[in-house]
Amino acid sequence: MARYIGPVCKLCRREGLKLYLKGERCYSEKCAQTRRPYPPGQHGQGRIKLSEYAVRLREKQKVRRVYGVLERQFRGYFQEASRRKGRTGEEMLALLERRLDSAVYRLGFAASRSESRQLVMHGHVKVNGKRLDIPSYVVRLGDKIELTENARKFKFVQAAVAGADKRPTASWLDADRANFMGTVKTGPVREDLNEPEIKEQLIVEYYSR
Ligand code: SF4
Repeated sequence: MARYIGPVCKLCRREGLKLYLKGERCYSEKCAQTRRPYPPGQHGQGRIKLSEYAVRLREKQKVRRVYGVLERQFRGYFQEASRRKGRTGEEMLALLERRLDSAVYRLGFAASRSESRQLVMHGHVKVNGKRLDIPSYVVRLGDKIELTENARKFKFVQAAVAGADKRPTASWLDADRANFMGTVKTGPVREDLNEPEIKEQLIVEYYSR
């Protein structure tokens, strides 16, 4: 499965805010966005006035990078959301949030979405008792998500669970971290999707131009 493999801190600096892509490091003083809060590159510290198009593009790129999906797949989420009854922007965010890798991250079993994606892809996550290695699987109401016995012993998983209170949690999931389990108790609500602050209307406008 294709994914971005370049330097992720540059992505935060390009968007001008923390996207929390690197786990523990994001909460430390080593965070590149804290140390160098300007865009990467030779002209990063110059004055930049964004056009209306660029503002919408940046918002779309920001959300795409937070959830770690490539353009084609992201556009697919938008198209799927636009076929649904609710507000397109919120439906799209809810679909992204309900990805299995995102749910595992929100449950606190991984320090970042890339870590949780790795857990899923390597077969360490079960949904309703069966191993599922598809990070883009969209979890449903009542789904029971758990880590395999092996994964529970991984140091990075234990460190993630120990530090889970630092990270934003999600009210739509019922987490039982002591047993490395969680259940989907409802659909994600808009308040769950505010880290970082997202203006989804700009993304709708970007794709509707
Ligand atoms: Fe890097 Fe995390 Fe800081 Fe972003 S928030 S710049 S990924 S350390």
